[in-house]
Amino acid sequence: MQKEKYNEKLKKIAQILDRNQKILLTTHKRPDGDAFGSTLALQFYLKSQGKKVDIVYFEEIDSNFKFLPGLGTLDYEWKGDLDYDLFVVCDASCLIRTGLPKDLESEISKTAEEKLVFIDHHPKDSGTECLFSLSVEEAATCKIIYDFFVLNQIAIDKNIATCLLTGIFTDTGGFLHANTTSQIMRAASNLMKKGAVLSTIARRTYFNKTYKTIKIWGKALERTKLNKKKRLAYSYITLKDLEACNAKIEDLSGVTNVLGALDEISYSLFLAQTSKDKIKASLRSEAYKKCNVSKIAKKFNGGGHPLASGFEIKGKIDPKSGILI
Ligand code: 5GP
Repeated sequence: MQKEKYNEKLKKIAQILDRNQKILLTTHKRPDGDAFGSTLALQFYLKSQGKKVDIVYFEEIDSNFKFLPGLGTLDYEWKGDLDYDLFVVCDASCLIRTGLPKDLESEISKTAEEKLVFIDHHPKDSGTECLFSLSVEEAATCKIIYDFFVLNQIAIDKNIATCLLTGIFTDTGGFLHANTTSQIMRAASNLMKKGAVLSTIARRTYFNKTYKTIKIWGKALERTKLNKKKRLAYSYITLKDLEACNAKIEDLSGVTNVLGALDEISYSLFLAQTSKDKIKASLRSEAYKKCNVSKIAKKFNGGGHPLASGFEIKGKIDPKSGILI
């Protein structure tokens, strides 16, 4: 997207937010650093403008992220009330990704053209019809929100800076992925100047592993199989594995990055049984491998980025072979 068009869209978001008073913020299911960071940063800003703002996350909050300002003390429990002037979805561009219960999803869809806004950094393919959508390929939704604050001359305080830097840090793989541009480093540096502490963010999101996390990682890594013909690394985790290690699905984030970095392969596939009949798939590759994994994810109605994508399917993983049954 051209810079002028991008800036125009960032101004338009400011206008839309400005004219609405009661706003519900949400993001995709299984929220990650960018999902939490972008919604929380927007919430801080909107509240400072005297607006009534609520956030809803459709998943238990990963305790690693509870250091984020406002998240550890989030006591709001959304009861499904839809009496809002505006719904803003960050880090996703369709309602299906939010994990909203189906009845509420169809209720929101009815007024989507007047009330629904998406702000997302994923390539947009089949988004939901809405009032306004900004889907631009950026390293993180938090970088878009950062640009929004800068362009509209909105003050960034320490809380907002911490939220935004967390999203940028996690979605660039700790500034190691190919999406770490000089603009990203400039934004990160500015956010540090505003008070975000990078070492704390890195410790809480990357290095702060618990015993159960390394146990479940060990299981997943030990099971890795290489398919030399397809240049694929594959591994999986069942519900029984999670139970045995007393681990949760959130403890697995990161395993898939390790698999994707293997030199011998073009891409990796990691499957995790999330419930009796549901499986979450994560695909990874590296820029130098020239393999667009989002094409595979799309075949299964998923999405994401060329180097990091995912999808959900119905089924069960055979604990012994790892094959779907
Ligand atoms: P992860 O494997 O870490 O869950 O996700 C990697 C990327 O793929 C993220 O950008 C995430 O938003 C996207 N992604 C993961 N699962 C899905 C899915 O089921 N649908 C879509 N559209 N995107 C997904």
